[in-house]
Amino acid sequence: MARTDVDEKPLTEARLASPMVKCDVCGRHYNQRYLTSHKRLSHNAKTDPSVSVDDSRAVEMILALYKKISAKARTDLRHRLSDAEDEA
Ligand SMILES: [Zn+2]
Repeated sequence: MARTDVDEKPLTEARLASPMVKCDVCGRHYNQRYLTSHKRLSHNAKTDPSVSVDDSRAVEMILALYKKISAKARTDLRHRLSDAEDEA
């Protein structure tokens, strides 16, 4: 009965604690308190004038997709990306 381990605490609880706000850069929803650090961490490129907002958004989407694919697919993707770099 002494088990107080966090057994995948429902995230909804934390989410209800503070309002969800939409990130204007990537369009995803974040806890309001987390949004500032999310932006700082994920959208540093925003302050780089050579990276457009559209590019930043595309990168965010690519990263989101990247996280979904298998390790094998990631390896394959990296090879193809470096091939694409060579062609460019
Ligand atoms: Zn964002």
